[in-house]
Amino acid sequence: MHSVEYKSFFPNRPLAAEKCSHSMNREQTFLRIAKVKVIDMLPRMVVYGLKAYAIQWQSLSAVEKLQEKNLRHIVSHAYRNSPFYRQRFKEHGITPDDIGTINDLEKLPTVTKRDIIDNFSSVVSRGFSKETCTVESTSGSTGENMTILHDSRAIDYYAPVHIRGHMAVGLRPHHRTAYIRYKSMGPSLVERFGFFRFSHIPSDLPPSTIIERMKEIRAFAINCYPNTMNLIAKEISQDDAEFLSPHHIVTWSEKLTPRIRKTVEDTFHCPVYDQYGAFECHSIAAECTEKRMHINADVLVMEFLKEGEPVAPGERGEIVITNLWNRAMPFIRYKIGDIGGPSDEMCECGRGLPLMEELEGRTDDALVTTSGRPVLPSFIVPLFFPYPEIDAFQIVQKTRENIQIKIVKGKTYREETDRQIIQKFRSIFGNEPDIRIEHVEEIKKTPGGKLRCIICEVPQCY
Ligand SMILES: [Zn+2]
Repeated sequence: MHSVEYKSFFPNRPLAAEKCSHSMNREQTFLRIAKVKVIDMLPRMVVYGLKAYAIQWQSLSAVEKLQEKNLRHIVSHAYRNSPFYRQRFKEHGITPDDIGTINDLEKLPTVTKRDIIDNFSSVVSRGFSKETCTVESTSGSTGENMTILHDSRAIDYYAPVHIRGHMAVGLRPHHRTAYIRYKSMGPSLVERFGFFRFSHIPSDLPPSTIIERMKEIRAFAINCYPNTMNLIAKEISQDDAEFLSPHHIVTWSEKLTPRIRKTVEDTFHCPVYDQYGAFECHSIAAECTEKRMHINADVLVMEFLKEGEPVAPGERGEIVITNLWNRAMPFIRYKIGDIGGPSDEMCECGRGLPLMEELEGRTDDALVTTSGRPVLPSFIVPLFFPYPEIDAFQIVQKTRENIQIKIVKGKTYREETDRQIIQKFRSIFGNEPDIRIEHVEEIKKTPGGKLRCIICEVPQCY
């Protein structure tokens, strides 16, 4: 059997039970800690669970009212307790009294990942530390690792919001999920009670081994990165796919292209739903059964900006988030590094949580022409759709004048494909840049185990 690596879902939460007598043996100590944890956290988890479940069915105006109340709290808290934000607000002549509604957010400056990394100790609020918080670390491909602290109250609210997203597409407490991901996640409190159980399968195993593990587990639902799921769909036999017959598949973390969604849905004869999450806020948005992406507006405020101004529905902008729950390390108007678009439509599922349009990918996933015009992934990725003979691809742009296309050739690959791909790139980027194709054995994953289709190292105009 495969080994499952667990770490506590609440690893750094201080507990009264930790003061227990040293004369106790380890088992007694563990049982006592577990008991106190449950007694300590359960009422809040139940209240938060009911809150998170109920809010999704309320009207958009009720959701916005709750957002504004929480926004006033977090802005006031940051001003009083985070030296970094206090300084930033002062520089812009803002006090918490100036922030009453969502529209007032634009008075505040945006912050970048670099700002947070460079000012870590002054961003963290007074009274919170690594010892009293859940500590996480982002693993960016550019080497910009960022440490993030979440206070226990925020963590306790993220959990039911995460579960809400999965229940929206059919998961129920008694169902088991197979998580095909880079690292295992620890058991949550609800899993300790036997609800929403999951099994971890390392995503860096060969697809054939992953399929064998999936057959052992035969879970109700599968959660997996889109590119890994695509490889599994190409490898699995029809008999094995029918044997597994998952109720649904959830993808996250990488761009889910329409083509990958179709390939996986046709192979497993079940719907694929996408989710959007990040360490800075955990679950950010999730698709319902209508395949519309609902923003978890009770957790965060999401803005879409281009050159500092909000974009209209139908347009694309840089995603800027304000986490409404995390007091330990406030993220207020934080540029998360992704591109997406707002929507003013309401979903037929009846949820009041606002919608966002398709997630484009990361800001550094947009390529740049020699004149500096950004070319979004939604223009680039479909160029490869007509070529099933390409197993994987990645585009790397180091300068405006240099575009490298890495291709992993499939069994039916033809040399003619190279010429056609170059021609398509020339029609977008013109004759100036040096566009080259390199055939490679594999596309290397990021340190966090992600496969990125596009890596652009040229500064963007977003
Ligand atoms: Zn919906």
